[in-house]
Amino acid sequence: MTDHNDKSFQKDVTIERHQKMIKKMKRRQELQTVTKKLKRNRQPKPARRKNWLGHDPNAWDELDYEVEERIMPRGEAERRRTLEQAALNTSETDDDNPDPAIATAPESQPGQVIEVSQGLCRVDLGSHTLLCTVRGTLTARETGFTNVVAVGDEVIVHPDGTEGGVIETVLPRRSLLVRPDVFYDHLQQVIAANVDQLLIISSWREPTIWLELVDRYLITGQRNHLPALICLNKIDLAQNGAECGAVLRPYQSLGYPIVLTSALTGEGIDELQTLLHHRTTVLAGLSGVGKSSLLAALQPGLQVRVGTVSETSGEGRHTTSQATLIRLGPDEAIIDTPGIREFGLTGLHRGELEQFFPEIGRLATGCRFKNCTHLNEPDCAVRQAEATGDLATSRYHSYQKILATLPG
Ligand code: GDP
Ligand code: ZN
Repeated sequence: MTDHNDKSFQKDVTIERHQKMIKKMKRRQELQTVTKKLKRNRQPKPARRKNWLGHDPNAWDELDYEVEERIMPRGEAERRRTLEQAALNTSETDDDNPDPAIATAPESQPGQVIEVSQGLCRVDLGSHTLLCTVRGTLTARETGFTNVVAVGDEVIVHPDGTEGGVIETVLPRRSLLVRPDVFYDHLQQVIAANVDQLLIISSWREPTIWLELVDRYLITGQRNHLPALICLNKIDLAQNGAECGAVLRPYQSLGYPIVLTSALTGEGIDELQTLLHHRTTVLAGLSGVGKSSLLAALQPGLQVRVGTVSETSGEGRHTTSQATLIRLGPDEAIIDTPGIREFGLTGLHRGELEQFFPEIGRLATGCRFKNCTHLNEPDCAVRQAEATGDLATSRYHSYQKILATLPG
């Protein structure tokens, strides 16, 4: 829980990731240079051969070839020969050499990115999946985003004929979940694409419901124009349902759909299922609240790893370390991404906060000062409403706490 409280920790994590990204970019550039050199070296060389050891020049040829092959990864020589063969066969009529693998050389196909991890993407082509890299020209393009491909993206891939491929194009997105880059205001990081709604999951206990985080996620939803739903899990750990309902009442008044669940007893799972119909839903919630357990309850056949509570720290263990799209039906999917857990409110200014607390915005019209911050000004209608119970104390507290973290 502390990682969400501590802004500097968030920053450290982001800086670390950024540095890793820079390192990765450098490595990629180095790799490209090496590949270019390799390609150049594979051109027929000028007559460099010297018979200075008294060898037969043809023997040199053999030796060169062997050395080159010896430094290749296992299977690489074989792969190159197949590729060369394929290139030859496509330029000629291959009636004499009907190699089935070559005859059915795969073409570009549409698919959806269902997993993104360390620069590699798994793309679902319907019948099977491919592990893909992103085409170099795509990464270099000025997109305004720090990453080019995100989970949920509809893409065109060029299969490499084995189990891999290259993402050539990212198709237009119908929606985006982004977060501003910490270093470059004009850049954004795409967390997920083609998402319809945000499902905020909290647990009643273990870890105890943290309403400020719910409010932060709600702001994230609004900033990304995504409708939000609230799920309160582990209600089997509550004394009675009424106390859970009371805590979430302010959200009910604001019109958010709410569902109380227990992945353990199965309570509320049908209701949750209904809320997910015909939509792609991105999950937001702390590690340990029961996201994997809920997924398993929604689709019993699904292979999801459920974390066990760590004995030493007592905190939920991270079981999902990468962005994943899980298909629940033909037009229904869940996106689970660690990116959303570190969601800060970067780029948000103090003056803008009120618009994300609509009930406070409405009350503010009764404050004496037009620019009232509702912290300590006299005749503040917001504070008065909080005192009389017309404004939920939890919401007012979130407002105060978030305001204190925002730049002026
Ligand atoms: P995730 O990190 O959000 O994916 O959380 P997990 O699904 O891995 O669950 C974390 C822990 O909470 C596991 O030990 C689960 O067995 C437990 N858990 C999940 N849902 C419930 C629930 O509804 N009730 C109770 N009592 N425990 C739950
Ligand atoms: Zn006020």
